[in-house]
Formats: sequence, structure tokens, C-alpha cells
Amino acid sequence: MTGLCDSFQRPINYLRVSVTDRCNLRCIYCMPVAGIHQMSHLDVLSYEEIRTVVTAAAELGINKVRLTGGEPLVRLGIDTLVEMLRQVEAVDDISLTTNGTLLSRYAAELKRAGLSRVNVSLDTLKPDRFKAITRGSSRIGDVLAGIETARAVGLSPVKINMVVMAGINDDEVLDFAARTISQGWHVRFIEFMPTAGVSGNGLQFVSAADIKRQLAPLGELEPCLPHVGNGPARYFRFPGSQGSVGFISPLSEHFCFHCNRLRLTADGKLRPCLLSDEEIDLKSPLRRWVSREDLKGLIEAAVAKKPLRHRLAEGQMPLNRPMTQVGG
Ligand code: SAM
Repeated sequence: MTGLCDSFQRPINYLRVSVTDRCNLRCIYCMPVAGIHQMSHLDVLSYEEIRTVVTAAAELGINKVRLTGGEPLVRLGIDTLVEMLRQVEAVDDISLTTNGTLLSRYAAELKRAGLSRVNVSLDTLKPDRFKAITRGSSRIGDVLAGIETARAVGLSPVKINMVVMAGINDDEVLDFAARTISQGWHVRFIEFMPTAGVSGNGLQFVSAADIKRQLAPLGELEPCLPHVGNGPARYFRFPGSQGSVGFISPLSEHFCFHCNRLRLTADGKLRPCLLSDEEIDLKSPLRRWVSREDLKGLIEAAVAKKPLRHRLAEGQMPLNRPMTQVGG
């Protein structure tokens, strides 16, 4: 590994790749009420183009890749992409973030193709609430089955991501945390981020500290040591439990100083920061047969543009794309 560093000396070794902006759910915290203006298929990077970007990034020092969306499992042949990326030298970890609705169907193929693990977004354990949060889906049973299938085929650890929203699902944090004890779940509580298209939905933020306080009846949380994971979550467990509880607190305790990532959108824009509108276009150069060295130069330019931290708390939010088109 050559070691890619940004201008604040943060090592950058992680690339999130959004493979589509299409999603089969309409979650209230992610998708704007009016929906999105969908990308044309012609604008979406092909699997070969994604491999070209990942190969160049890997030569610079990226060794972890996460596939996201939209919903990555709605893109046809996603296991083929996993297989292609598995062959990129220096990439030693490929993971995927999904809403889980199609996971039972694809988990075994993905495992065979070389996927290491999955994160599943699940914000409630109640069918009627699931329908309200996803604006109409009845597929909570598929998500729960998908989690079990992923565990059974060894896509582990399966991490459950819950975006906690006041008055919507915050009364369920104890139920989710209890499953870390009873079923060995790895649950991550995520603070709601007001981003493009969802900030005016009346959704209320709950801080990680408040969530932690609500978990007190289950016992004292012990930190998981040594520090685990590639990202911003801080992990704990209840004494004797097989599972873990993680907290992702982009607002109350931002983790930018440890940020190690870049994001590639489905239409080929490299985003130095999740919460800034800055993007570097890779699609046009790719389609003009850019050389590997020039492509690496563009990736390095994106890394050099990483801001020290986001400015959400000061009211500066990204406006050009809703979260569903960035990939989280
Ligand atoms: N469809 C996939 C899924 O549901 O996981 C992948 C895409 S989704 C945009 C990726 C992640 O972004 C999910 O874990 C989701 O919970 C998170 N996310 C989306 N909008 C968010 C928001 N406003 N605040 C916090 N997390 C958000």
C-alpha cells in the first residue's frame, strides 16, 4: 500500500461505491417526499468502469470497498461486480449496505462471489411502523429473513443500522439493544442527519448520548476493545452478550477527524465528503479513455479537497443530492 493521505494527514483507505440510484423503498429520512429525478441508465457507471476506478484507487492505497445505493441489490448481477472487485489486487475487504428486502435471495451468491459482510438498514421491528417509515412497504418479514440468511451463509458480522428519530422509532431502541443479548445482533444506532430533501420532513434528531441513556435498564455497556471496525461507530456490549451496540453520531460528536473515506456516486462523481456538495467528475474522463495515471491524479485531487470537517451543526448541508443518491 502506498498510503493515500489527505491534506490533514488522515489516511484514506476506504471507498464507498453507489452502484445505482434506484431503490425499492422510500424511507422518510433518506428519500425526499417528491422522490428523485432518476439518473438515465446511460449515466450510470458500468461494472467495468467501476472496476477501473477501484483499480486506480487501490493502486493509490484504497483497500476497503463498500457497495451501496440506492439499493445495491436491485442492480442486476451485483455478484458479478463483487467477483470483479475481488480480483483487484490490494482490495482485501468488500462489504455491502442494503435495506435487506432482497437479501435472502442473493446472500449465498454474494458470499460465493467474495463479499465479506453486509450492513442491513432496519429502523423498526413493527410491521405497521415499517410501512410508515418506508412509505408503503410490507416487506419487514423479508428483511428479517434476509438478516438470518446472511448470518447463515457467513456474511458476518451482519450489522443492523437503525436511524433513530424522535417520536417515530426512538421507543424501540431498547428492543433493538435487547437483541444484541438474545440473538447476538450487532446493532448500530445512527443519529438522523438533516440532508438534501429530508431536512424539512419534520424529523427530529435524537443524540447518541440520549440513546445510550435509554439503554440503562439492560445493564452497563462495556467498550469493545481493541477498537473494532473501519468507520465512525464506537462499539460496546452488554456483559456476557455475543452481539454489540454501536453509536454513529455525525452531529453530536462528529467523527470527521478520523474520516478515512471517499464516495463514488452511481453517475461517476467522486465526493470527498458525504456532507459537502463538492464532486469531481470521473465519468467523462473515463468515457474519453483517461489514462490510469490521469485517473489516479483525479482521485488524488478529490482526496486533497477533503474538508477538515462537515458544517451540518452550523446549518450548512449538502443540497445537490439526497442521501439516497449519495449512498450514505
Ligand atoms: N439502500 C441501502 C440501505 O437501505 O442501507 C443503502 C443506501 S442507504 C442511503 C445507506 C445508509 O444511509 C443507510 O444505513 C441509511 O440508514 C443511511 N441514511 C440515509 N439517510 C440518512 C439520514 N438522513 N441520516 C442518517 N443516516 C441516513
